[in-house]
Amino acid sequence: MSGTAFDLVILGGGSGGYAAALRAAQLGLSVALIEKDKLGGTCLHRGCIPTKALLHAAEVADSARESEQFGVRATLEGIDIEKVNAYRDGVVSRLYKGLQGLVSSRDVTFVQGTGRLTSPTTVEVDGTTYTASKGVVLATGSYSRSLPGLEIGGRVVTSDEALNLDWIPEKVIVLGGGVIGVEFASVWRSFGCEVTIVEALPRLVPNEEEACSKALDRAFRKRGITSKLGARFAGVTQSDTGVVVTLEDGSTLEANLLLVAVGRGPHASGMGFEEAGVAMDRGFVLTDERLSTNVPGVFAVGDIVPGLQLAHRGFAQGIFVAEEIAGLSPNPIVESGIPRVTYCEPEIASVGLTEAQAAEKYGADQVQSYEYNLGGNGKSQILGTAGFVKLVREKDGPVVGVHMVGSRVGELIGEGQLVVNWEAFPDDVAALLHAHPTQNEAFGEAFLALAGKPLHSHA
Ligand SMILES: Cc1cc2nc3c(=O)[nH]c(=O)nc-3n(C[C@H](O)[C@H](O)[C@H](O)COP(=O)(O)OP(=O)(O)OC[C@H]3O[C@@H](n4cnc5c(N)ncnc54)[C@H](O)[C@@H]3O)c2cc1C
Repeated sequence: MSGTAFDLVILGGGSGGYAAALRAAQLGLSVALIEKDKLGGTCLHRGCIPTKALLHAAEVADSARESEQFGVRATLEGIDIEKVNAYRDGVVSRLYKGLQGLVSSRDVTFVQGTGRLTSPTTVEVDGTTYTASKGVVLATGSYSRSLPGLEIGGRVVTSDEALNLDWIPEKVIVLGGGVIGVEFASVWRSFGCEVTIVEALPRLVPNEEEACSKALDRAFRKRGITSKLGARFAGVTQSDTGVVVTLEDGSTLEANLLLVAVGRGPHASGMGFEEAGVAMDRGFVLTDERLSTNVPGVFAVGDIVPGLQLAHRGFAQGIFVAEEIAGLSPNPIVESGIPRVTYCEPEIASVGLTEAQAAEKYGADQVQSYEYNLGGNGKSQILGTAGFVKLVREKDGPVVGVHMVGSRVGELIGEGQLVVNWEAFPDDVAALLHAHPTQNEAFGEAFLALAGKPLHSHA
């Protein structure tokens, strides 16, 4: 056995792990980053980036299909899925090369192989022990979950296989109306598929503001996407050509493919965590708000830590842990301040508390909300999108929640997160200008109204 000593040893090179590595190296720490597959993890290779490339191709298809309403004569002849996939792979591989260059330029030691935590200060990879003098960071990510008795294979796929399909199903059933389910539903519909979403809860994207779920449901119906809400999956059979899904009420649905999008589980077992004494709950690694596990010197970041499973949360946690280990005492990350975007057509973007959560926290009579309809926003009318910007504030206090629906509103959440995390009052933001005509202006209008001086609305 050979030994290799570092300040920091990081297990997993996804969003959380590589962000910790980059920041730690920046702070002068020596770092080993261990990755069994590809640097960049789920987000770059199987998640955020490839799906958004598909969504962009979907938007191009919709633009061609709807061109006539803008007076442009174009026809959508079809989708060449091989070329769509090649475009997507091009985007991923350029970013992958960039990331590899970044990691090596920061002098991070990249170790290719499967690691195992062998003690609170050591990780073993193929017989070599990597020792950490200042800390070990667990960042092993997540996997696509299924339901008990629902086996993945053939025409029953998760997002991993769905991303790599070299054919477009004529009819598809999406099990789960959460962020990943609605994203694929949206892409496939734009590619011409007949799509049915089966969701056990009474609404799509149930973690979002109720008004956003309703608006999405309406928009999806208009696009011809069927949602079966409050419908529970009972079983599936498959043949060479299709699947038959049975629901608990006894009804059946037929399609060529079933996408199982019922959430992601932590990838944290079988790697020595329990043996090293790390406290876990239902497979997740437990940490305190400083992302320290119960074992001194062992930290955890990203999807294995209970909470929002988002790449930018992983980045922020990775940076936090690097700074913590370097002794900078960073401020803990506030989970509700993390911006969330549901990528589909139309998009949902939010940050902070929903109106119901704010009412629970401050009391219903201590919460005020305002909804600005995109019908009054010039740029949204130009794009032909419907939706709204909803603000939630504590009465006589700061804005505590921002919720939006509409094409491209994901791009507006940057301002939303500044407002919520800086605890801005409506008057503060209403005094600032928003360029005309932008969708961002809708945001400004909502603040003007909430500050008691509406411009293009009847508040
Ligand atoms: C379809 C889809 C779409 C998504 N879209 C978005 C989006 O738009 N925006 C967003 O914010 N988030 C999105 N996500 C979520 C995002 O991808 C994750 O939150 C993020 O990747 C989590 O980062 P992580 O570092 O915790 O884990 P991962 O990115 O999963 O990285 C963990 C890494 O650890 C490695 N590893 C595991 N075990 C070992 C071991 N024993 N030894 C060595 N290496 C190991 C794995 O190979 C992997 O590379 C999406 C996810 C999916 C599936």
